[in-house]
Amino acid sequence: MQLWFLGTGAGTPSKQRNVSAIALSFAPERASLWLFDCGEGTQLQFLHTPLKLPRLEKVFITHLHGDHLFGLPGLLGSRAMQGAERPLTVYGPPGLRGFVEACLTASSTRLPYTLEIEEISPGEVCANAHVRVTATPLHHGVTSYGYRIEEQPRPGRLHSERLAALGVPPGPWYGQLKRGEPVVWNGQQLHPADFTHPPQPGRVVVVCGDTAPCAAVRELAAGADVLVHEATYLRTDAALAQAHRHSTAADAAAAAAAAGVRTLVLTHVSPRYSQDAAAALLAEARAVFPASHLAHDLWQLDVPRPAAD
Ligand SMILES: [Zn+2]
Ligand SMILES: [Zn+2]
Repeated sequence: MQLWFLGTGAGTPSKQRNVSAIALSFAPERASLWLFDCGEGTQLQFLHTPLKLPRLEKVFITHLHGDHLFGLPGLLGSRAMQGAERPLTVYGPPGLRGFVEACLTASSTRLPYTLEIEEISPGEVCANAHVRVTATPLHHGVTSYGYRIEEQPRPGRLHSERLAALGVPPGPWYGQLKRGEPVVWNGQQLHPADFTHPPQPGRVVVVCGDTAPCAAVRELAAGADVLVHEATYLRTDAALAQAHRHSTAADAAAAAAAAGVRTLVLTHVSPRYSQDAAAALLAEARAVFPASHLAHDLWQLDVPRPAAD
């Protein structure tokens, strides 16, 4: 599982940072590729990575501000021109469908693949056998969601030596025990907990839309492996952050500490800051939460599976 930070700037593109977009690749376990937000030029950022647009399965829009959304019509069209056939589902707040349909209709864009648009409400957004996504509203003046992506735990490995000691040969009962089902062997009931290691926990990644500090982030991100949080401003510009319902780097770090996450990634940096000032964002965050990173465009972060207890 890897996160690719395709655009890490706020509001408007700069020479250093394009506007918001973060890809989540489930490789090497699965070929799934998802995208969170789609600022202008996101399809161009894809070209600088090994990620392929036709593989994209889901897009999650946090909120309908242009720096998170205006790249979507272009990305849908580019995906069509790259020969994509796989269906694509786009999730986001109410108003998303009207925007996408108006853009596609006005530009006579025809897609050769099925496009589903789901206007979401708080709670579960989608789930399959591998992963579940929930959405929580944050605090930004318009409806802005944070998404929590939770992998299902993996069944624990078998204590095959214990089974061998009982004379249980390999067979379908091994699979049953692994799935948590009891097995009767020679008149004796075998309980899965006695013959399997603890399940391996799944990874949890949280991607927040724009937000001022709020309790919802702490709940959404509780215990996450990675929290991606906006850090639009330095502490010296805290009044601007407050006025525009954004966060400072220190606000993001405080949320990470309160939620007990493993790693914090700062993104959505105001174009007002030079590279040096942006480095100060990281320093301000690390003073509060040492496991902080500052994303830059095309940066890739591996999200390893946590070790089993
Ligand atoms: Zn924004
Ligand atoms: Zn915004």
